[in-house]
Order: sequence, then C-alpha cells, then structure tokens
Amino acid sequence: MTTQKTVPLIELPKSLDQLSASEIERKACIGKIMTYTLRNLTGKFVDSGFQWLLPVALSQSTDPLWPDPGASIEKRIEVDIYGKPVRTTASMIIHKLIASSIAYPKLFILSPNIRIEKAERAKTGKHIYEFTQLDFEARDATSKDIFALVEDALIGLVTSLKRDMKTELTTLCRCDTIKVPKKSFKIYDKEDLETEYGADWETELAASIKDPVWVTNIPREFYDFEDFKTGKWDNYDLFLPQFGEVLSGAKREWEYSKIFKKIERDQVKKENYSLLIKLAKEGKIKPSAGAGIGMERLVGWIAGVQHIAETQPFPRVPGTVHQL
Ligand code: ATP
Ligand code: ASP
Ligand code: MG
Repeated sequence: MTTQKTVPLIELPKSLDQLSASEIERKACIGKIMTYTLRNLTGKFVDSGFQWLLPVALSQSTDPLWPDPGASIEKRIEVDIYGKPVRTTASMIIHKLIASSIAYPKLFILSPNIRIEKAERAKTGKHIYEFTQLDFEARDATSKDIFALVEDALIGLVTSLKRDMKTELTTLCRCDTIKVPKKSFKIYDKEDLETEYGADWETELAASIKDPVWVTNIPREFYDFEDFKTGKWDNYDLFLPQFGEVLSGAKREWEYSKIFKKIERDQVKKENYSLLIKLAKEGKIKPSAGAGIGMERLVGWIAGVQHIAETQPFPRVPGTVHQL
C-alpha cells in the first residue's frame, strides 16, 4: 500500500482591502508583535556593539543562491543602469563580507530581499517573494559565538514578549503554546538527519522538535566555510519547533584560493564577484561569521500564522500580485 502525505490546505493571505473586521484585528496584533520584535532585536544588536547599516536594492554582486539544494527561483531580476548590469538584492551576503572586513567589524542590516520563488511555493506557507532579513556579520567571530548571540537574542525576545505582549499573544492563541527556549540548543549534523529522516529531513525535523535546534554541515554557496580536508561545512541553520528554518548563516571563506576555486566549481559568474575576488587576493577579506534571520518567518512563528505573508502589511505570496 502506498501512503500519501496530505499537504495541509493553507488559506492564502489577503490584501488589506479584502480583510474582515476580525481579520483586521488579527493583522493589527501581528503588526504590534512585528514592531516589538524589530525594536527588541535591533536594540540587542546595537547594545552588543553592532553598527546598523542601511540596505541597498541594486548591485552588481548579490547572493548567487546557488548551489542550493532547495532553490526555487523562477526569475532573476537584472537591469542596466548607467551602462552597467545590476541585480535586485537576493541577500546582502557579499556586502556583509566586504563591509565587515573593511570598515564595520560588527554590523547588521534590515535587508529587503527579492527572490521570485516559483508560484507553487505559495502553499509552503514559508515563502514570499519579498522578505526582510535581519542580516548580521562579525569579524573574527566563530560559529559558537553566533550560536550564543542568537540563542541569547531569541530567549530574551520570547521572555520579553510573554511579559509585554500578553494581550496580543492571547488574541493569537499563542500565550500558552509559545515557550521560552533554554540554552544551549541541540546541534545536529545534516548528514545524520538525512540518514534518519531521508530527503524530507527538514519537514520531519521541524515536526519532531520541541525546542529550537541548530543544523550544521550543509553544502551550499561558495561563501560558507568548507574544510577541504574533512569535507565538512562550518555553517548552520536554526530550526524552530512546528515551523522550520528561520535563520541561515556560517563561518565564512576569506582565503582567495578557496573563494576562487569554489566560484569556479559552482560555475557562478566570476565577473559578478570581481570585487570580492580582488579584495581576497589582496588579503583584505577578513575571517568572519554571521547569519540572517527571516523576520517574517520569526514573527510568523511567534504569531502562529498559517502563512508568513500574514505578517506583511502588503502580502508577497508567490504567484499572486496585488495592486499594493
Ligand atoms: P528555504 O530553504 O526555506 O527556501 P533558504 O535556505 O533558501 O530558504 P536562505 O538563503 O538561507 O534561504 O535565506 C536566509 C533566511 O532568509 C532563511 O533562513 C529564511 O529565514 C529567510 N528566507 C529565505 N527565503 C525566504 C522566502 N522566500 N520567504 C521568506 N523568508 C525567506
Ligand atoms: N543571510 C545569509 C547568511 O548570512 C545568506 C543568505 O541569505 O542566503 O549566510
Ligand atoms: Mg537557508
């Protein structure tokens, strides 16, 4: 007998003008939680000595999003300005590596990312085609430093929310179900998870955990650190219970020869990364580590939404274009 998994039917978020009175009340509650979360986390980063950089929308270099086993990009947006090709920001990873190496040793950016995900991704509830990462990077940091920083930030955030946002969490039926996580989060190796759960390990892991967990050693884009001797990757994702991935990050490559080799291996266009390559060759790229937190996913988890576009005033559901 074949067993078929049933994909839960998700109601797709509507635009503001389509909401009923009770849906507007819910939207407003989620909006307050987003405001609280942004203030709490940006405050935490500023207090920890991070400088807050403003984002850019158009650059020659952006995240290649390749190779990534889960990539589902339907279209990449590229336009010519002043006679040069630029791309809309997929993530500010390249900017982070250069900025943290040269002028801002600890930095973060509330960075709008455009990723035109395939329309079928609307039903995951976890993908939107414009989202915001709280994207941060720290020179000379290790993965362990980032784990500690993120664990403290998440524990602090949930503790404060439970104290200050009781009314909103109650309206969203999350007051009793959201738990303050405890340090230190468990760490799993992706290879072990694949052995245990198979190809769909991400879904199975999210469904089975009661607390946030780290997953490490995930082969992906050239900028994450790979130990050529062991084949292990010093990178990580944070998974939240009953939800899934909310953060990705890594210790970074900084040596010219490795960066160059990996760009060639991935068949990524060298000309899009010529500044990074040049700076690395001159020894100006410094070791760093960092990560990006998807704000709509984090707030979506806190609010217990079916679809993370519920956290957006102007939903960006793959396959649907509203007027606003
Ligand atoms: P996924 O595998 O879930 O599609 P990803 O691993 O490709 O996501 P990353 O490139 O790691 O995404 O992006 C960093 C973070 O940005 C993710 O951990 C997530 O929180 C957020 N993010 C990525 N893609 C999306 C999206 N389409 N919609 C909302 N948030 C996203
Ligand atoms: N923000 C991620 C990081 O810091 C990169 C990404 O968005 O893909 O690793
Ligand atoms: Mg990821």
